[in-house]
Amino acid sequence: MSVRTRFAPSPTGRLHLGNARTALFNWLFARKHGGKFIVRIEDTDRERSTKEFEKNILEDLRWLGMEWDEGPDVGGGKGPYRQSERLSIYKSYAARLVDNGLAYNCYCTKERLEGLRKTQLAKGNPPRYDGMCRSLASSDAPANIEPAIRFRVPEREIRFIDGVHGELSFDTSAFGDFVIVGSDAIASYNFAVVVDDALMEITHVIRGDDHLSNTPRQILLFDALGLKAPSFSHIPLVLGKNKLPLSKRDRNGSIGELRGEGFLPTAIVNSVARLGWSPEEGLLGLDELASAFALEDLSNSPAVFDVERLKSFNREAIKRMDDDALFASLGLIARDGLFKEAVLEIRANASTIPELKDIINSVTGSIPYDEDALAVLSEPYARAVLTAFSDEAYTSGLLDGTAYNRIIAEVKKKTGEKGQRLFLPIRYALTGKKEGVELVNILKLIGKIEALKRIKRFI
Ligand code: GLU
Repeated sequence: MSVRTRFAPSPTGRLHLGNARTALFNWLFARKHGGKFIVRIEDTDRERSTKEFEKNILEDLRWLGMEWDEGPDVGGGKGPYRQSERLSIYKSYAARLVDNGLAYNCYCTKERLEGLRKTQLAKGNPPRYDGMCRSLASSDAPANIEPAIRFRVPEREIRFIDGVHGELSFDTSAFGDFVIVGSDAIASYNFAVVVDDALMEITHVIRGDDHLSNTPRQILLFDALGLKAPSFSHIPLVLGKNKLPLSKRDRNGSIGELRGEGFLPTAIVNSVARLGWSPEEGLLGLDELASAFALEDLSNSPAVFDVERLKSFNREAIKRMDDDALFASLGLIARDGLFKEAVLEIRANASTIPELKDIINSVTGSIPYDEDALAVLSEPYARAVLTAFSDEAYTSGLLDGTAYNRIIAEVKKKTGEKGQRLFLPIRYALTGKKEGVELVNILKLIGKIEALKRIKRFI
């Protein structure tokens, strides 16, 4: 059997960490087994689905590196891959169930159903369709009402082996006959998914725990249609560090937001991969993750997203970036060698590219001198240090690492200062700050002329 998995987003929002993880696990499983990964757009919620979200989701998936073998934009033999383009398929399968007596037309009005729900809830019962139209003769059907189609739920126990949770069983008696195609001719989620998973020959469904209660209904539908159900694996919720559902504070942010903040795809993929799975430590490539992936290794308790971990993966990803790609992403291609040398040395200080930009700008941009800086810089010993530094730097060639070491040694010899008293005046004069990038890298970033200009102000 050749493995076929799918990622089936509803285009009602951006791609988030939770659904990115669902996509990733499906992608990894397909790649691991040399199978196919399919993207299907579940846009039957006409009010909330937008083309814009669909486009964003596909862009973000691609940006993360998860290419698909079949899908709405790449095609494939089992399309169309947008549910809104498959409505007639669902209708024909629903009609089959009606013909077999496994589903029936329901003429109940919204008002009746709402009233029924309220009464049941008031009595403390879970709401459930009462079967009013179950045995309605077609001769009694109201002429001017477009019916919905309801599935006749058989009372039985459903057992299946979930890839993550093990054996599960459900009693269908609580379900009530549910709608499979609405009176507006739109298939319900459960029905569309079953028809699609069967026709697209999906072998493994990997999705969030929030769908666990849908699975027994879907298994009933597979059985009724005489179609083979895929195997199911439900992965646990993703929580924030406080063990609550992800919030803004955890940057539950969409993938687009994280991307905007400067996180790199490989860092996001690595941190998403650790949501409920523990492959070996370190930044792994998609191929390495794929070869290590196994459903049996997924955890069945909620996964916690840790932004610090994402940052550390991102730091590692920046470290591994090709030098020219790094300069390009910083807009620094045209800079000189010393400048670039400093950037390569300080890149480990930043957890994102924009942060690295800020660090560079904080050195190269205009600098405010606060009271503490001005106090130190007006001390006689500081002036002596700066004067000696300026004299040495002036007669030196390029301010590279060797020149820096020589200049500092000379200043030390001339002034007799060392430690804080030697370095702080120079650092304050050059950056206005007590801490930050190493002095030698500051010099490489601003160059000799600018360094002398900054120093001279305080002599
Ligand atoms: N469209 C559903 C969702 O976005 C996924 C359905 C499924 O995986 O079965 O939650």
